[in-house]
Amino acid sequence: MNLNLAGKVAWVTGASRGIGRSAAETLLKAGARVVITSRNQENVDAAQRELAVLGGSVGGFACDVSDSASVQRVMKYVLDKYGPVDILVNNAGVTKDNLLALMGEEDWDEVIRTNLKGAFNCTKAVIRGMIKKRWGRILNVSSVIGLKGNAGQANYAASKAGLIGFTKSLALELAPRNITANAIAPGFIETAMTAKIPEAERAKALERIPLGRFGSPQEVASLIAFLVSDEAGYITGQVISIDGGLLTA
Ligand code: NAP
Repeated sequence: MNLNLAGKVAWVTGASRGIGRSAAETLLKAGARVVITSRNQENVDAAQRELAVLGGSVGGFACDVSDSASVQRVMKYVLDKYGPVDILVNNAGVTKDNLLALMGEEDWDEVIRTNLKGAFNCTKAVIRGMIKKRWGRILNVSSVIGLKGNAGQANYAASKAGLIGFTKSLALELAPRNITANAIAPGFIETAMTAKIPEAERAKALERIPLGRFGSPQEVASLIAFLVSDEAGYITGQVISIDGGLLTA
């Protein structure tokens, strides 16, 4: 298999840590010029410094995906410095869990604005360039929760299910331009997001995972790298689960 991404510009959102950070590293190693963003400048700078040690070209910018002005500002720099984006990984995401009866409107809005509208903002910012080039890859990081729901995560589940509808619609719109759009649905992955899960819940989760462990960000990054490569050129509009068998259990 040839995952050679030389000559491609890849933008990974929410890449200061976790799945996004691993995806950026894997795409960089595959030869892409990589742009990483997240809200916090210091976090982005630290990740950029670590990635730069690997060689290749990596740029970092602070960008809040939920804020279309921030996205447009960053896209201007990226266009000037790197040229049009070929590969977009809409990875930035947050949780604000609560039972619906107790959930504040702000927690609903923040999760939808980041996880769903963020993908809209970033995709809008890159799509014309991809259409012009007649090549592009949009990869949306959804979740098993978007496929099956979860008590206490109505906002997160709605945002991740929304991403799936967004992905399938984009795939249909953009296939004639040789642009693919796919989503991945990770289960439990070892990151800061799942580090918040209390020990008792974690033990229960492990019992439900046929492979008996949480996944690693690197395992998710490998799937992302495949889906954005030429090797996956005939895959579009799909949702690929990466969950240790959780959804089949
Ligand atoms: P994480 O470790 O918490 O990392 C989230 C990243 O998103 C950070 O870089 C964070 O950086 C950035 N971010 C948050 N809000 C942002 C915003 N408004 N604009 C730009 N960047 C923002 O989470 P993760 O586990 O790697 O999750 C990555 C993605 O995978 C998320 O979409 C998540 O929903 C999804 N996912 C994770 C799991 C899992 O088990 N971990 C399972 C299924 C799906 P700043 O704080 O600096 O902004």
